[in-house]
Amino acid sequence: MLKKYFPYARCKSVFDIDYKGLYAEGIRALIFDIDATLVPHGEPCTPRVEELFRQIHKTGFKTLMLSNNSKERIEDFIRNIDTCYIELADKPDPKGFLSALDKLGVPKENVLVIGDQLFTDILGANRCGIKSVLVDFLMKDGETKLGKKRRLEIFMLRFCRCKDVSIKETEDGKKKLL
Ligand SMILES: [Mg+2]
Repeated sequence: MLKKYFPYARCKSVFDIDYKGLYAEGIRALIFDIDATLVPHGEPCTPRVEELFRQIHKTGFKTLMLSNNSKERIEDFIRNIDTCYIELADKPDPKGFLSALDKLGVPKENVLVIGDQLFTDILGANRCGIKSVLVDFLMKDGETKLGKKRRLEIFMLRFCRCKDVSIKETEDGKKKLL
């Protein structure tokens, strides 16, 4: 019953994902949520996120930003990122996810959704049969209060058993990104 809300895999943050491992598994395109996934809600893009996308593209992935936010917000966010996007996606409605697959031109078996919310990103991906990775949601500095949905997500996740797609530590104890 809860299965439709559960991701294929989890990871602490977008910076900890083993993208090379995913590529080796056959994943060729990544659909990203923006708010609370790449940066706290409404915050501007950061050089670290821009560098992450440069590396992701270098690895060979196609990317697409799928956001419920406005065109202005997304266009400002991706100013220095070479990616396509879909605004006002109305997640978890499948239509945004299906147009994302269409735009990417990659079979859904080779696509992965990366987001922070069970009720939008993960549910929508599951409705379309696309694999997903749930990352911990990002909060603004000083923000501590969790809404009802967040508390419910945390409760539901107690029952979730899924794969961990974090980068493995190398012998010298350092994590190697991409
Ligand atoms: Mg989000």
